[in-house]
Amino acid sequence: MALMNGEQYRDSLRKMKPLVYFLGERLTNPVDHPMVIPSQNAVAMTYDLAHDPQYEDLMTVTSSLTGGKINRFGHIYQSIDDMVKKVKMARLVGQKTCTCFQRCPTMDTANSLFIVTKEMDKKLGTHYHERFLKFMREVQEKDYYVGVAMTDVKGDRSLRPHEQADPDLYLHVVEERKEGIVVRGAKANQTGSINCHYTFVAPTAAMKKEDRDYAVAFAVPTDSEGMIHIYGRNPGDTRKMEKGTVDLGNARFSSQETLLVFDNVFVPWERVFLFKEVEFAGQIPFLFGANHRQTYGGCKAGVSDVLIGAVKLLAEYNGLDKIPHIRDKIIDMVRLTETIYSCGLATAVEGEKTPAGSYFINQLLGNVCKLNVAALPFEMARLAVDITGGVLGTMVSEKDLKSPEVGKYVEKYFKGLPEVPTEHKMRLIYLIQNLLFGVNSVGYMVESVHGAGPPAAQKSSLYRLVNFEQKKNLAKNIAGIE
Ligand code: SF4
Ligand code: FE
Repeated sequence: MALMNGEQYRDSLRKMKPLVYFLGERLTNPVDHPMVIPSQNAVAMTYDLAHDPQYEDLMTVTSSLTGGKINRFGHIYQSIDDMVKKVKMARLVGQKTCTCFQRCPTMDTANSLFIVTKEMDKKLGTHYHERFLKFMREVQEKDYYVGVAMTDVKGDRSLRPHEQADPDLYLHVVEERKEGIVVRGAKANQTGSINCHYTFVAPTAAMKKEDRDYAVAFAVPTDSEGMIHIYGRNPGDTRKMEKGTVDLGNARFSSQETLLVFDNVFVPWERVFLFKEVEFAGQIPFLFGANHRQTYGGCKAGVSDVLIGAVKLLAEYNGLDKIPHIRDKIIDMVRLTETIYSCGLATAVEGEKTPAGSYFINQLLGNVCKLNVAALPFEMARLAVDITGGVLGTMVSEKDLKSPEVGKYVEKYFKGLPEVPTEHKMRLIYLIQNLLFGVNSVGYMVESVHGAGPPAAQKSSLYRLVNFEQKKNLAKNIAGIE
């Protein structure tokens, strides 16, 4: 099944049996649980759009590994154009879902592992690359969504992995067998961990030789024995379990984050892509980080497009859209959105062919892109709150609107233009609330800062990537210093 649609994707998950907990209870059928459905709808969009002739060129591509037509989310970049299209695709799916649609780590991790495994084999004589390619062919042929688990829980942040009081605070190898390895630990803030078929697991940072047991990368099915997904809360999440759709603002789509525990999980050798080669452990998160940071230039721009549409429409419904300061603020939101998108595009255009044979983004610009994403949505949020007004935090409920007693007052006193139903205004206000302070604020606000690492991680990457010598020489030349 080289190209699943959304329904086939949902069915494929129904065949899996991940161990999931929410509010202290086990979810026996997570695929059909109201908490989980909106997050799966967001991933399903990446499958459905691949079948839409309008988006075929953006969403699908000919695989360099199988020669078949595949979903772009599983592709190894073969050109600059592939990386440009990745950003455009992310913006498109962001526009259609207004949330984190979760699937990007498949391509962002695979493209990093492609390079690192090739380099390891060349330097160490290992056989990781062929192993990895075999796995990727299966991923592409079966159209799997592969999530990524990198962020260790880290315990005392001032200590290295092997120095922690509890050795499990970074995921590590606890047993080596003839058929494979056994790992234990936990990964935090796991986007889409229940919604994916497989999870790539990799170190969170560079490792030293004392941390050899922590230098491990592999892929495992999401429902492997010993994997436990503990569902994270979002503000307003239980609105998903209420009747009605108005108060949720975005009733169809959400992101998904979990604490993912690995309690003695077995991984066969054929799925292990790094095993105690400490000198390569840091390269995987480093390359993945830069690559994923570029994708944010697409997805967050797409989500911002919806936010701009919502505030513009609301301003029109309130008779405010011709007021100069409102126009000015909306145009500022457009400028900020196009700035992050431009960063994503530039990161692709300045990319190049790697010694491994694939293409890769410009890492420096990828980090700059993410630093802008960590800041500009907050400026957009401030403008959106300003334009929307205090009602953003005080709007009454759909139940009040539909109440036989007070509904007529809600309809009358929340009215804007006479011809616009009050419910339409309410829907926009709740959509903005959902994105800035509700269920999807995790994807838009928190994730803009912390997704693919916090700003400090981008800055430390940048410090390594910037050619300061060149800049100093430029200054010396102009200043006349020999
Ligand atoms: Fe994709 Fe954006 Fe979600 Fe990361 S935050 S998985 S780039 S949609
Ligand atoms: Fe993310």
